[in-house]
Amino acid sequence: VSAGSRAAALFETTFAGAPEGLWSAPGRLNLIGEHTDYNDGFALPFAIPQRTAVAADPRSDGRLVVVSAERPGLVDTASAGLAPGTVSDWSAYPLGVLWALRQASGEEVLGGGLSLAIASDVPPGAGLSSSAALESATALAINDLAGLRLNRHQLAAAGRLAENRMVGAPTGILDQLASLLSRPDAALLLDCRDGETTPVDLGLAAAGLAVLVVDSGVQHRLADGGYAQRRAQCEAAAEVLGVRSLRDATLAGLEAARERLGDVLYRRARHVITENARVLSTVRLVGQGEPRELGPLITASHVSLRDDFEVSVPELDAIVEAALGAGALGARLVGGGFGGSALTLVPRERTDDVAAAVARTFAARGAAAPTPVEVHPSAAARREA
Ligand code: ADP
Ligand code: MG
Repeated sequence: VSAGSRAAALFETTFAGAPEGLWSAPGRLNLIGEHTDYNDGFALPFAIPQRTAVAADPRSDGRLVVVSAERPGLVDTASAGLAPGTVSDWSAYPLGVLWALRQASGEEVLGGGLSLAIASDVPPGAGLSSSAALESATALAINDLAGLRLNRHQLAAAGRLAENRMVGAPTGILDQLASLLSRPDAALLLDCRDGETTPVDLGLAAAGLAVLVVDSGVQHRLADGGYAQRRAQCEAAAEVLGVRSLRDATLAGLEAARERLGDVLYRRARHVITENARVLSTVRLVGQGEPRELGPLITASHVSLRDDFEVSVPELDAIVEAALGAGALGARLVGGGFGGSALTLVPRERTDDVAAAVARTFAARGAAAPTPVEVHPSAAARREA
């Protein structure tokens, strides 16, 4: 049963009536370009087939009432005075979007209240951005219900503001832009400095390649400290290098400042500089019709995230190693790290071998192996009904 019909059914059982509409938004996979978004850099995400759906209806009693098929209970809070600190836990994502849209429009959007029922196929905390799927579906719903007529860049900005201020996770805007602006069968080259997006035809299927995502089973929480610390280190490195952000740094400048940076900031900056270059190399290679050549770039991204940015965990390293040993062309951790998923680029005829090899790494630590999820570029957020 799709997330859309589950959200609609949950709405009817919770609120004893039909919602005004149903919206959905996809999770995303970032093919390459990790921890570059908040450094004004480049990334290459695509929307995945798994989606989060939101059934919604305005209210008139001044209450915000939110339920999720994936969470117990019901959140019921006052519409007036909604602000950072007034809601906590998972409801900070959807209600944070409402707060952010009030900030963006300068109006008391849906001041009479809102009923929301949520259901999702995007696994949370697996590096597939369930958070942006939830924010983007909610943003689209509120935009329609309140007649705000904001564009998708503005809705993405609201999702980011919700996550930064209401949830307290200082994430960039990559996930929301991917969820709201992707096109079927293409990745989005994202320039995170100005938000410019360029569709890039990857040609993976035509080249006989599949992308498999393996959930390490290690839960990450971006609201925890590691992500914020990396972000602060990048800002500190940019300051030492005398650039506006690490997007503007060069390897030559990095070497010249090595002493002043110290080992940690040097390696953090080196990851961002080389990762931006890998994104642009990826776009060049697929433009030349050579998607099989992406493998080494993807694996180099993992090595850089592991050694220079230090956001991998042993479970992810083991998946990457096993996949490469079984014929994957490239593999890397995906998402913020500290757990979550790994992606592997695999010739279609080797997908079973890779899945079996990965399963053995889980067996070796006495864990049940997840089923690798095959993902392909899919449609962006939309109204369903
Ligand atoms: P990711 O975005 O990689 O999946 P995050 O830590 O950024 O991981 O976001 C996951 C959080 O988003 C969950 O812990 C939960 O608070 C919220 N969330 C995502 N999907 C849902 C859902 N369907 N229902 C309720 N909360 C959700
Ligand atoms: Mg997230």
